[in-house]
Amino acid sequence: MRKKILITGGAGFVGSHLCERLLNEGNEVYCLDNYFTGQKKNVIHLLDNPYFELIRHDVTTPFFIEVDQIYNLACPASPVHYQYNPIKTMKTSVMGAINMLGLAKRVNAKILQASTSEVYGDPLVHPQTESYWGHVNPIGDRACYDEGKRSAETLFVNYHKQNNVDIKIIRIFNTYGPNMHPHDGRVVSNFIVQALQNQDITVYGEGNQTRSFQYVDDLVEGMIRLMNSRDGFTGPVNVGNPNEFTILELAQKVIKLTGSKSKIIYKPLPSDDPMQRQPDISLAKKELDWSPKVQLDEGLIKTISFFKTVI
Ligand code: NAD
Ligand code: UDP
Repeated sequence: MRKKILITGGAGFVGSHLCERLLNEGNEVYCLDNYFTGQKKNVIHLLDNPYFELIRHDVTTPFFIEVDQIYNLACPASPVHYQYNPIKTMKTSVMGAINMLGLAKRVNAKILQASTSEVYGDPLVHPQTESYWGHVNPIGDRACYDEGKRSAETLFVNYHKQNNVDIKIIRIFNTYGPNMHPHDGRVVSNFIVQALQNQDITVYGEGNQTRSFQYVDDLVEGMIRLMNSRDGFTGPVNVGNPNEFTILELAQKVIKLTGSKSKIIYKPLPSDDPMQRQPDISLAKKELDWSPKVQLDEGLIKTISFFKTVI
């Protein structure tokens, strides 16, 4: 049956893939965005679809619409962008959550929060399970994002307990793919753009910090499975690819796959940069019957093809 679905942050990297997939499944999709890091370009090909609507709006102010489901993605996700205006970042997470939860309560919609592995901070437990409470510096440069997302989780859980709102919380680990902005600032897009332009590849620190990279199609599948998971299952649930790489390994892979002449250079490690990150996805496997399908080389090849068309 056709559902009415609101996607905040829908013109961003992940949101644009989610809009397309949910439209293809026959739903009516309302894409809401203030275009801070997202772009109309990401969803322009969907505008001909009569079941797609693009709305310019900022989630820090209330929004009213009748929908069945809400995916709350609005929030800058790259450290460069979320640190540009940390107060606004926190308002987006906290006030955005309040406004969207209020809407969900009013119209009786199911609501999914795009949370993050950043709630684990610089983790002391490895790999990270959902039961780990995390290790976040509340006054550091990343705090506006990490604590904003942690507060949003608290709001979600309390709207569920107090007002019976049907919530789902997904903790997303580093995700990459087509539609990332060339100047997004995150590591995969930076390295690919640098490699394609034969510029120096900027590794921060010594490059021995790790991340586990997930291709966007796997994430979208996990989000939709979580939204449609059994009643009473709220999460939080980790969704990410457990294959872990050092940042130096990633740089070498990107150079190899692009055939680039770029050299690796080293720049200072940003403050509070987590040293390692790897999801434990046992819960997603059990509750969502989900596991990632696209491994790093395959996903990088698809992402490199995309960047060749936009830079
Ligand atoms: P993105 O920056 O490409 O997308 C975020 C979107 O939100 C953009 O379109 C932006 O314009 C919009 N936005 C920002 N502030 C807004 C506001 N106040 N009102 C309305 N729209 C606003 O980032 P993304 O990678 O697509 O991330 C999407 C969501 O997933 C974010 O909530 C992010 O925290 C979460 N997430 C992403 C990753 C990842 O690796 N991609 C990892 C963990 C969590
Ligand atoms: N990084 C890097 N060079 C870059 C961009 C990022 O070495 O040009 C590093 C960054 O310091 C971090 C890792 O890559 O250790 C992942 O960074 P990103 O911003 O993609 O995500 P996050 O730190 O939020 O996981």
